[in-house]
Amino acid sequence: MSEIKKIGVFTSGGDAPGMNACIRAVVRTAVFYGVEVVGIRRGYQGMLESDFWDMDARSVGNIIHLGGTILKTARCTEFMTDEGTEKAYNNLKEYGIDALVAIGGDGTARGAERLSNRFKIPTICIPGTIDNDLYGSDFTLGYDTATNTVIEAIDKIRDTAASHNRLFFIEVMGRDSGCIALRSGIAGGAEAVLLPERATGVDELISKLSVDAKNKKTSSIVIVAEGDKSGGAYQLAEHVKEKFNFYDIKVTILGHLQRGGSPSSFDRVLASRLGFAAVKELLNGKTRQMIGLRGNSIVLTPLEEALNASHFKLEDDLMEMVSVLSI
Ligand code: ADP
Repeated sequence: MSEIKKIGVFTSGGDAPGMNACIRAVVRTAVFYGVEVVGIRRGYQGMLESDFWDMDARSVGNIIHLGGTILKTARCTEFMTDEGTEKAYNNLKEYGIDALVAIGGDGTARGAERLSNRFKIPTICIPGTIDNDLYGSDFTLGYDTATNTVIEAIDKIRDTAASHNRLFFIEVMGRDSGCIALRSGIAGGAEAVLLPERATGVDELISKLSVDAKNKKTSSIVIVAEGDKSGGAYQLAEHVKEKFNFYDIKVTILGHLQRGGSPSSFDRVLASRLGFAAVKELLNGKTRQMIGLRGNSIVLTPLEEALNASHFKLEDDLMEMVSVLSI
């Protein structure tokens, strides 16, 4: 029998589609096993303000298809101080919350690691971020939906690019991670993908586009992750415009629309599996773990290991494939 009586669940940092499906899974699994569950609104900020919500199975009705998070999310610098962490823990203790499920990105997991390490409160983290940049899971919540949103946009842009001999630079999210750019570039049939993990020079891009033009391509799409070292889509467009005066060069920044929308079936299933498993693992006595999907299995990685490991490693073969398939 587990000693856990009341689980606190929260979302923190950047929101991602699938967070609601995950909250639903956590709440209903806890209720099923006879454990109380409290929603903590606005992440660590809500912990500091005791913004707690006693939830039951009905609290999470009709949310599985919604983007965003019904628990809201926030960034909170006060929590990062020793006093802040202690205050948060005291509020949890006072309310009887004796275990946590944290849903969020790298920063959220660092916060959870700090809290659980210092005060020994059992904690499992669920990777929720559209960037797919966490170690311990092949996929993070929201990544699949975000890339689907991006390819829908690329498909629309392709129509106008093809009709007008246009060269489009489409900037997608990813300050440190090129996952969205690479996957959407492949799925959207882009001519080139520029990522923060790799210094593709402007010269390299120009030579690729020149070969494409010689091969009678009349329009091209280049996907640029926002963290690309050459300075983003506008800067790239500026650099190449003299070379390609036969193209009408356009830039589209997709921005925050990539964060929203109804989660894909993949994200809903992933969210449900991770939320369900997180509660079961807590009740089995596990703590300070990142829960994730590897292959098709749910796996646990100690938080310390997950947070110290190097992030996503860019697959060279995929970058080569982008070039080959866009000749
Ligand atoms: P994400 O979880 O999406 O990566 P952030 O990096 O903004 O988002 O982190 C969310 C919150 O987690 C921060 O506002 C802060 O309250 C907390 N946090 C981030 N890093 C740490 C850290 N090193 N120690 C303690 N708390 C942290």
